Amino acid sequence: MARYTGPDCRLCRREGMKLYLKGERCFTDHCPFDRRSYAPGDHGRQRGKLSQYGTQLRAKQVMKRIYGIVERQFERYFEKALRMSGDTRENLVRLVESRVDNIVYRMGFAINRKQARQLVTHGHFLVNGMKIDVPSYRLKPGDIVEVGEKSRSMNVIKQAIETSKDRTKVPWIEVDADSYKGTFVRFPNLEEVTDLPVDVQAIVEFYSR
Ligand code: SF4
Repeated sequence: MARYTGPDCRLCRREGMKLYLKGERCFTDHCPFDRRSYAPGDHGRQRGKLSQYGTQLRAKQVMKRIYGIVERQFERYFEKALRMSGDTRENLVRLVESRVDNIVYRMGFAINRKQARQLVTHGHFLVNGMKIDVPSYRLKPGDIVEVGEKSRSMNVIKQAIETSKDRTKVPWIEVDADSYKGTFVRFPNLEEVTDLPVDVQAIVEFYSR
């Protein structure tokens, strides 16, 4: 599936906000957004006031970029969220939050979602004892994610565990880093996902035009 392969930091500049796509680097002086917060390109400094459509479009782009999801897949999530009972906004957030790549990142076994996706694709994780290599695989409450036995000695995973110790833990996931395991306890409520700087209602309106 086609995927954006350009520089992540360019996406933050495009959206005019820090999307925290790189992990710890985003919190250091090396974050390029702190030096150049305008959009890339010749006209990057001329960002005008957004129309209603523009605001809705940007909200959708920000959410897609944070979770690293391509357009078609994101549309499918929206269509599914619409068919589900309950609040479409919350359904959409729950669908993307329960992806295994996101859970691996949230558990602190990867420094960012991009790395989590790559590690999952390479088969370094098990869900309920079964090897999973599809990053979009969705977890159910109670599912247990663990780093595969042979992958536990990998530096990239050890470093991720070390650097993620200070990261804010979320209440819908439990982790025992010493045993390389965690549990997806429940789906989050919309208001609990405080690190998603997006008005999800604007996304609902974007797709409902
Ligand atoms: Fe965005 Fe992180 Fe790059 Fe800063 S370092 S521009 S927050 S991805």
